[in-house]
Amino acid sequence: MKIKSFEDLIEEVHKKGICQQCGGCVSFCNSMDYDVIGYREPNSPPEFINEENCLKCGICYHICPQTHVLDYDLNRVFNLLDFSSMPLGNTSKIYSCQSIDFDLLRQGTDGGVVNSLLSYMFQENLIDGAIVAKTKAHFSREPFFAESKEDLLGTSGFKLGISQQLDEVQKRHSYSSSLPELNKHKFKKLAVVGTPCQIYTIRSMQNLGIIPSQNIEYCLGLFCYENFEFDQRKVEKFQRDFNIRFEDIEKINIKRDLIIQLKGDKNRGSLIHINFEELKDYMRPACNACSDFTNVYADVSFGGLSSPENFTTVITRTEKGRQLINEVIKRRIISNLDLDSETEKKMKDLLIAYSVSKMARKESFLKNKFGPVNEVKSIV
Ligand SMILES: Cc1cc2nc3c(=O)[nH]c(=O)nc-3n(C[C@H](O)[C@H](O)[C@H](O)COP(=O)(O)OP(=O)(O)OC[C@H]3O[C@@H](n4cnc5c(N)ncnc54)[C@H](O)[C@@H]3O)c2cc1C
Ligand code: SF4
Ligand code: SF4
Ligand code: SF4
Repeated sequence: MKIKSFEDLIEEVHKKGICQQCGGCVSFCNSMDYDVIGYREPNSPPEFINEENCLKCGICYHICPQTHVLDYDLNRVFNLLDFSSMPLGNTSKIYSCQSIDFDLLRQGTDGGVVNSLLSYMFQENLIDGAIVAKTKAHFSREPFFAESKEDLLGTSGFKLGISQQLDEVQKRHSYSSSLPELNKHKFKKLAVVGTPCQIYTIRSMQNLGIIPSQNIEYCLGLFCYENFEFDQRKVEKFQRDFNIRFEDIEKINIKRDLIIQLKGDKNRGSLIHINFEELKDYMRPACNACSDFTNVYADVSFGGLSSPENFTTVITRTEKGRQLINEVIKRRIISNLDLDSETEKKMKDLLIAYSVSKMARKESFLKNKFGPVNEVKSIV
């Protein structure tokens, strides 16, 4: 039987417009130093660079989040085969947390919890570095390798400090194709912060025992309903549609919708909320073909949805993740709200509602684009 390889990814994923640009295929293939595939254009699917060097090993096809080849194996490892884990995944505990560190909280997207954990891990030598993403401009992020708390403070939140960068960015993507960054640091102990599509690819690499995933100690997963992309035309349309000038934006966040804080509104008195339904023109098309909202394959997942302002919702999933969160709470690196069972249930219900909505969006997208789907391979 022919092993499917990158040419099949082109046919089955790229040409169908569902490549999530996680960068996993490039990351693995380039770790072998053959320069077979790569990006000819930024923020577009990878392409053959030196096709003649392709070994047709098929690993790129196997680890791609859009081929679903390893769904069963991953679901077994992460205890997701049981239907009762639908659709939130293996949720060992749910918390609402906030950083104790004032700077990380102030700079944080929500409760500054992700960066507080990373900072703790640096301090305790649990990791040598972390693959994160740095804000270049509003709705524009790029991969970044952080090695200290100071590095993290420079990446935090959806905030932009240097406004002149606005003019330099013609194309903006809130998504950051950070996995190829792994190759530059493959001999270090790493944590990776990523969206569900990225964490899936890392887990697939780990499942196959392939580089550069061997030294990833922690997968910290962000909730993700969708990502956005803008060219100049869309920036102008967005500004007209919502009567917001990009240069007036202080901070952007995503929870149950897109939240915009304008400059000068320090008390966050008039936050602007834009429903995901109204943002269809700005969404990355491939995000339509994605169903995991809460990042079910992460060690710990993080989002703003279902927690109060300036708190992060934290879901522990693996034993390693559970121990990490217990430790940082015990050591007062982060604080957590004492959630009664009714509040916890409300939080879960809201997270389930968003997860179900994302799954329904994928189903309807695939049905409209490719006809009825008979086989449901994935639980998420
Ligand atoms: C594109 C995107 C979509 C999201 N969608 C939702 C949503 O729909 N609902 C919801 O509740 N929450 C969503 N989140 C998560 C939420 O915005 C916060 O990131 C999360 O609550 C953690 O907040 P924090 O204050 O604890 O993190 P912080 O302490 O501020 O740390 C955040 C860390 O994440 C890193 N980071 C940010 N973006 C990326 C990225 N694209 N790739 C890799 N690393 C990154 C930063 O560099 C930083 O290290 C989304 C996040 C992103 C990036
Ligand atoms: S060498 Fe292997 S991983 Fe690289 S493109 Fe070819 S099939 Fe994919
Ligand atoms: S592995 Fe990621 S970047 Fe590569 S084809 Fe699949 S979705 Fe696209
Ligand atoms: S919705 Fe989020 S996780 Fe899914 S493909 Fe888009 S960026 Fe990746």
